[in-house]
Amino acid sequence: PKEKINILLLENISDAAAAEFTSAGYANVKRLSGALGEEDLIREVKDVHLLGIRSKTQVTRKVLEAATKLQAVGCFCIGTNQVDLKSAREMGVAVFNAPYSNTRSVAELVIGLSIMLIRRIPDKNAAAHEGIWMKEAKGSYELRGKSLGIVGYGNIGSQVSVLAEALGMNVFYYDVETKLPLGNAVQLRSLEALFEQADIISLHVPSTKTTANMINKDTLKYAKKGAIFINYARGEVVELNDLKDALTSGQLSGAAIDVFPVEPEKNGAAFSTPLQKLSNVILTPHIGGSTEEAQHNIGLDVSAKMLNYLEKGASFGSHTIPAISVPAVDHTHRILHIHENVPGVLSEINTVLSQNKINILGQYLKTNDAIGYVVLDVDSKLSKEAFSLLKDVNHTIKTRLLY
Ligand code: NAD
Repeated sequence: PKEKINILLLENISDAAAAEFTSAGYANVKRLSGALGEEDLIREVKDVHLLGIRSKTQVTRKVLEAATKLQAVGCFCIGTNQVDLKSAREMGVAVFNAPYSNTRSVAELVIGLSIMLIRRIPDKNAAAHEGIWMKEAKGSYELRGKSLGIVGYGNIGSQVSVLAEALGMNVFYYDVETKLPLGNAVQLRSLEALFEQADIISLHVPSTKTTANMINKDTLKYAKKGAIFINYARGEVVELNDLKDALTSGQLSGAAIDVFPVEPEKNGAAFSTPLQKLSNVILTPHIGGSTEEAQHNIGLDVSAKMLNYLEKGASFGSHTIPAISVPAVDHTHRILHIHENVPGVLSEINTVLSQNKINILGQYLKTNDAIGYVVLDVDSKLSKEAFSLLKDVNHTIKTRLLY
C-alpha cells in the first residue's frame, strides 16, 4: 500500500522528482535541503523505502545496514561513487542514477564554444576588459563549411554531430565501436585520420584505461595547423603539458577545457592547470552538463527508474540488482526474490512452489557475480502463501510482494 511507503529526498533534489512521487500516489515524501552525515542519515533512513541523494551524501555500509526497509537508492546525479555499491549489491538494494540526462547541455555548449573559439572571442573579450579595442577580421572564421572531428560517437558525440551539421559543418568521427552515422557524418578508422582532417576536434570518450592520456604529443602532431581543441569529456584523457605546447607553438589556435585530471572538491578552492593565461583558451569548472534543464531531467529519469522498480520490479539501469525489463503487472501478483548467486536457488524456488501447488505464471531471472534476481508472477489468491514460502528459501537476501 502506497501510504506505507516512505520516501526521503536529500540535497535539494529537483522539484520534478518530488512531483513524480506525489503524483504517483506516494504522500510520504520528506525533503531535506542539505546532505546528511553518517549518524544523522542512519537515524533518518530507518523506515525509508526509497532514498534520493545527490553527490554529497555518503551511503556507507553502516547506513545500508540501518535501512532495513530500503528498496532503492536514487543518485540524482551522474555518478554513483558516493554509494557503497558492493554492500548495496550484497544487501539487495537497487541503486539508480541518471548518466545521460545532461547530454543536450554538453552538446549545446560544445557548439557555442566552437563559435567563440573560431572567432577568437576569448582574446577580444580579455582585451576589451583591459580597455583595449581589438577590432579585426583576421583569424576569425564562420563554422559553416568547417570540419568537426568527434572523438567518441556516443550519446553526447552523436548529438554534437547533429547540431554541427545543422550549422553546415562537415562531421567526422572516430570511435572504437562501429557506430551508425547520423546525418552525413563519416566514421574514420583512426584518431590520426581525424586529427588530420578536423578544423575543430571535440572529445566525447569516457575515462578508461584505453582513453587515459590518449591525446598527447604523438596525437596532437597530426592536428591541422591552427585547429581548435575541445575537451568536455574527462580530464584523464588529455596530457595537459603536451596540449599547452601545441597551443603555445601555434599548432592549435584555441581550446576549451572543462575537465581536469585533478579537480577541486569545493567551490572557491584553489585550482591550477598548465593552461592558465594562454591566449584563446576557455577554461570552465566542469559545468558542461550543469543546467536547470539537466537537473529537471535527472529528477524525472531517476524517479521513474525508482518507481518502476518499486511498482514493477523493473531493475533496468540499476548498478547493483541485475537488469530485468518486465511486463506490467497484470491480474496476477508479483514476487521479487533476491538471493545469493549460488547453484540451486532457482530450483529450490520452483520445487517449493510446485510442492505447494502454486503455479508460476511468469518468471524472469538474471544474475550478476554476487546475486540473483528473480521476478515471479503468481495467482493473486496464492501470492501471500508463495511469498512466505519464498522468504525461507536458502540463500535468500530480500523478498518483496507487489500487488
Ligand atoms: P557514451 O558512453 O554514450 O559514449 C562514449 C563513446 O566513446 C562510445 O561510443 C564509445 O564506444 C566511445 N569510446 C570508448 N572508448 C573509446 C576510445 N578509446 N576511442 C574512441 N572512442 C571510444 O558517453 P557520453 O554520455 O556521450 O559521455 C561522453 C563523455 O562526456 C564521458 O566521458 C562523460 O563522462 C563526459 N561528460 C562530461 C560532462 C561535463 O560536465 N563536462 C557531462 C556529461 C558527460
